[in-house]
Amino acid sequence: MKAVVYVGYGAAPVLTQADEPDCPVDGVVVAVDATGVCRSDWHAWKGHDPVTLPHIGGHEFAGVVVAAGPGVTRWRAGDRVTVPFACGCGRCEHCLAGDAQVCPRQTQPGFTGPGSFAELVAVHAADANLVALPADVDFVTAASLGCRFATAFRAVTAHGRVRPGNWLAVHGCGGVGLSAVMIGAAFGARVLAVDVSAAALARARELGAVAAMDAAAADTDGLAAAIGELTGGGAHVSIDALGSPAVAADSVRCLRRRGRHVQVGLLPGGPVPLPMDLVIARELEIYGSHGMAARDYPEMMRMVADGTLRPGLLVGEVIALGDVGRALAAMDGPAGAGMTVVRLAG
Ligand SMILES: [Zn+2]
Ligand SMILES: [Zn+2]
Repeated sequence: MKAVVYVGYGAAPVLTQADEPDCPVDGVVVAVDATGVCRSDWHAWKGHDPVTLPHIGGHEFAGVVVAAGPGVTRWRAGDRVTVPFACGCGRCEHCLAGDAQVCPRQTQPGFTGPGSFAELVAVHAADANLVALPADVDFVTAASLGCRFATAFRAVTAHGRVRPGNWLAVHGCGGVGLSAVMIGAAFGARVLAVDVSAAALARARELGAVAAMDAAAADTDGLAAAIGELTGGGAHVSIDALGSPAVAADSVRCLRRRGRHVQVGLLPGGPVPLPMDLVIARELEIYGSHGMAARDYPEMMRMVADGTLRPGLLVGEVIALGDVGRALAAMDGPAGAGMTVVRLAG
């Protein structure tokens, strides 16, 4: 099969022939139709997130099942599917409780094994992890759901519990932040977008933010104070969608009493100081969000299928498999506009 392979961290990813994946007993092999290129793929390529070399990246994909192992009961060849980026084992107490996103034995195509920058990719524990695609959700849209959009959906709904009229502050308007803006607006929140890029803030307004704030224009206390003033007491829910110690602390500081902070942006540098004095005095809640289990997809998928949520608007460039190396290399610089999705079929 054709696949994009790199032999060492930082070495040029090359479109080449690779061995087809074996079908796991409890899993399936999916013919990839579309697959997103995500900053997590860039982190793995750069060696920030160790993988087995040589490696095939790619974890945000949608396609058609071509083979199912003998232990699979719910899926068969021909099914149109996508998967969360974190696939649970399907058997542990966390998976059985519906929390496959924190399964200690989770598998992640593109990280723990070969990924979807390839014609074929294997998925373990298929009965627990595959998500059926409604007929009116196309593959490119579906490929944009599995990582950033689903993570934002869970952050806004399950953790943030936003209600109509709530102020939702979204710090960092890249792929996951803009997803949170769109989802928050769809649930009736008043979304305040915070970023240092005028272009990102303009995009956030197009996607439903009612207010935008330039984070560079205020010092740390100034930002929280400005948000407090704008929202009449602070945000009900605030999300760090960027992943930086300063932004995480700002996100906690800008909350209203009894407010909720959700950490979505990764903080690979280790422990981060947060203003725990405010957490006590204002009875704030702090959550981490790590993707979303397949079991929780139906509500999101319904809202995508009926057009309430339009993740396709977040897709920027659609490229060919041979362009993956160039797309990864481009992530050495600042993020471009929108998610990049690879289209394989045709
Ligand atoms: Zn991703
Ligand atoms: Zn598990």
